Amino acid sequence: MTAQDVRPVAGPADGTPRDALAHNYHPLPVTVATAEGSWVTDVEGRRYLDLLAGYSALNFGHRHPALVEAAMRQLGRVTLTSRAFDHDLLHPFARALAALVGPLTTGGDASLVLPMNTGAEAVETAIKTARKWGYDVKGVRPGEATVVVGSGNFHGRTTTIVSFSDDPDARRGFDPYTPGFRVVPYGDADAVAAAIDDTTVAVLLEPVQGESGVVVPPADYWPRVREVTAARDVLLVADEIQSGLGRAGTTLATETWGVRPDLVTLGKALGGGIVPVSAVVGRRDVLEVLTPGTHGSTFGGNPLACAVGIAVVELLRTGEPQRRARELGVLFHARLRGLVDAGLLDAVRGLGLWAGLDLDPARGTGRDLCEALLARGVLAKDTHGSTIRLAPPLTVSAEDLETGLSALENALTDLARDR
Ligand SMILES: *Cc1c(COP(=O)(O)O)cnc(C)c1O
Repeated sequence: MTAQDVRPVAGPADGTPRDALAHNYHPLPVTVATAEGSWVTDVEGRRYLDLLAGYSALNFGHRHPALVEAAMRQLGRVTLTSRAFDHDLLHPFARALAALVGPLTTGGDASLVLPMNTGAEAVETAIKTARKWGYDVKGVRPGEATVVVGSGNFHGRTTTIVSFSDDPDARRGFDPYTPGFRVVPYGDADAVAAAIDDTTVAVLLEPVQGESGVVVPPADYWPRVREVTAARDVLLVADEIQSGLGRAGTTLATETWGVRPDLVTLGKALGGGIVPVSAVVGRRDVLEVLTPGTHGSTFGGNPLACAVGIAVVELLRTGEPQRRARELGVLFHARLRGLVDAGLLDAVRGLGLWAGLDLDPARGTGRDLCEALLARGVLAKDTHGSTIRLAPPLTVSAEDLETGLSALENALTDLARDR
């Protein structure tokens, strides 16, 4: 390389600072400056109702007072120790989360919690745990462990996780891919059963596929997958990173079908919209295959994360966020079905305070609809093609929700008139 090769390229001629941010996102044209509850304010002072809620990372709204207070209090105590040393909130956080979520898994009251930071790390942790359990406990031959996953999945962005994605954008150009995964059609329990053999250590699925457009599987899917995994001594891992912690109207979405997974991955809302906090929760005998030195994270379970995580568990322990998601969800879905009946939307899916909306592609893309909503003071995000996702904060008031839905109706009416 010559000196010329490293000379910086010229900045814009008008003197504005050159863009230094990598282009791995295409955000809507809004620059947020402050936020509170269900509302954000941009740099020009315009207010927007947030109907995305950080893809469910903001289930309790922006800057929930109890969560901010817990974080502020912890900022004055200790924020990071690394796992080389213990700290006084690490075990309390694990106990609180195990008490909330453990009984909803086959791990029951004796469940363990393994804290990480991002969702992808929790999924990686679950995969590593399942593989090691497969070799150490189930007796799978070395190097042969397989994990069955669903088509249309979204579990994160690491090289291993995109290896079993079937979204070309997420996957193409990032090979060589990690082997050991079998992708079967999501929602088809027979396909899961057929994909399981003696090498299978786990079935990893989203209870409801968020990124795919809030796809709810058939009612017998989870019960049947639970049955076949139990019969074949295969771990059932539910990725509840987006669906869990109240969004679906229950603490875990898998409760909808009365199913207890062996392991669950949590993230997003677990950090209260303040810090990244994720975890794997479930069977003690399974998580115990990880011993000192086999897995870890510098930031996983840090004091600030634990302080916020404990406060999040406290909110969920009251059952209030789940109840709001259920009750407001009834209104929400009735109103959205009305938009389908009125011919303004092709389809609506979802449960709790969570919905995927399909617009007639002839009327515009999901992006077009999100821009029309933005112009009416509402934030939402498209997924693929003409699908958008709504996930209001579970703390949203009925009035604010109605404001958002009216804006949606107006935006859809305009799109229908324009095309
Ligand atoms: C967001 C998400 C992830 C990844 O979480 P990150 O914190 O972005 O790494 C994994 N699984 C599901 C279901 C998700 O929605």
